[in-house]
Amino acid sequence: MNFDLPAEHRMIRDQVREFCEEEIAPIAQEIEDEHRFPREIFDELAALDMMGVPLTEEYGGLGGDTLMYAVVAEELGRVSGGIGLSYVAHTSLGAKPIELFGTHEQKEEWLRPLAEGDGLGAWALTEPGSGSDASDMDTVAEKDGDEYVLNGTKQFITNANVANSVLVKAVTDPGAGYDGISTFIVDPEADDGFEVTTVWDKMGLNCSPTCEIALDDVRIPEDRLLGNEGEGWTQTMKTLDGGRISIAALSTGLAQGAYEAAKSYSGEREQFGKPISKFDAVRDKVVDMYRKVERARLLTHKAATMYDGGEDVTRASALAKLDASEAAREVAEDSVQVHGGYGYTTDFPPQRFYRDAKLMEIGEGTSEIQHLVIGRQLGL
Ligand SMILES: Cc1cc2nc3c(=O)[nH]c(=O)nc-3n(C[C@H](O)[C@H](O)[C@H](O)COP(=O)(O)OP(=O)(O)OC[C@H]3O[C@@H](n4cnc5c(N)ncnc54)[C@H](O)[C@@H]3O)c2cc1C
Repeated sequence: MNFDLPAEHRMIRDQVREFCEEEIAPIAQEIEDEHRFPREIFDELAALDMMGVPLTEEYGGLGGDTLMYAVVAEELGRVSGGIGLSYVAHTSLGAKPIELFGTHEQKEEWLRPLAEGDGLGAWALTEPGSGSDASDMDTVAEKDGDEYVLNGTKQFITNANVANSVLVKAVTDPGAGYDGISTFIVDPEADDGFEVTTVWDKMGLNCSPTCEIALDDVRIPEDRLLGNEGEGWTQTMKTLDGGRISIAALSTGLAQGAYEAAKSYSGEREQFGKPISKFDAVRDKVVDMYRKVERARLLTHKAATMYDGGEDVTRASALAKLDASEAAREVAEDSVQVHGGYGYTTDFPPQRFYRDAKLMEIGEGTSEIQHLVIGRQLGL
């Protein structure tokens, strides 16, 4: 296995890193404090061709692979978890399923604007009463002539109030269990009965909107069904296999940002007449941070490379997500500690990494659910 990124990937990484340092890092804390979704950053990412990295060129994407996409997600996470979260929800959850399961017409109408960055994508699976047990949903879609009528509530949907399209999961055949779920493309602007009812205040990631949405007799034409009726659950599993790689990449970025902050601070801050990095306890913490970041990145790149090779990645993506999200939280916590009192203030970034990292152990399947997935894969 070659551990160096290919030249093209390194070029993209350096380009995105420069953009992140110049345009995102200076506003990263401010947009959190203001709870402001920075649309201008997404417009600039679109101008850099970054909104459709792993999406086909045929419909406006960059035509990169999952490894390249993971590299970009990591760079965003290194400076802003919130921008990173909205970015990966747009790409892996809002856009990729249309590429994987849509018709040519659906791709032209709904994928192209997302891939080109003219709009943002969102994906609505979770409900107030069903999260880990996501198939136990109450949202229904009833056929009425050549239309479907959607009713229900979706919870914690990233980007829903800024999205061009939302992929909504709903029950079409109540008696059929997993085989009774379907996916619909909903247009939040044009479809009557779609309403964002809450934008949540959160412990972190506040520049990334997290919404509750109500679907009240939303009538959509039958050509907005993605794939066939009853395929919604299989699509969900495939979507999460890819999505978990992007959360792992984002987590690696958060860990990298927190590690870099601690490394640099520990070399500058002096106590007892020398830099604190010269104390064994501090040096060992920083070395452990480095170890965890390297491990998270290796597992993430392994899963991405397997995905690109067409292999089954259920185990590898769950493992990468489990490990990297834990690494992000632990490294961020240690980074706060290395910064001492300053680490507890919002003038320094570790507290932000710490708050942002916690979500990575919850979204797209909690750590407990990743254990369940991996255990099943191991035959336990
Ligand atoms: C910021 C944010 C963004 C999100 N974005 C999206 C999005 O874009 N689209 C979307 O559809 N959803 C999204 N979610 C929802 C997210 O995926 C769910 O919150 C998550 O899957 C957990 O579901 P829950 O919150 O209902 O927790 P629950 O399922 O109620 O879990 C509560 C606790 O019980 C544990 N638990 C549950 N079942 C088991 C089990 N079988 N074994 C062991 N432990 C178990 C869990 O691990 C957890 O610790 C987002 C959430 C947040 C906070």
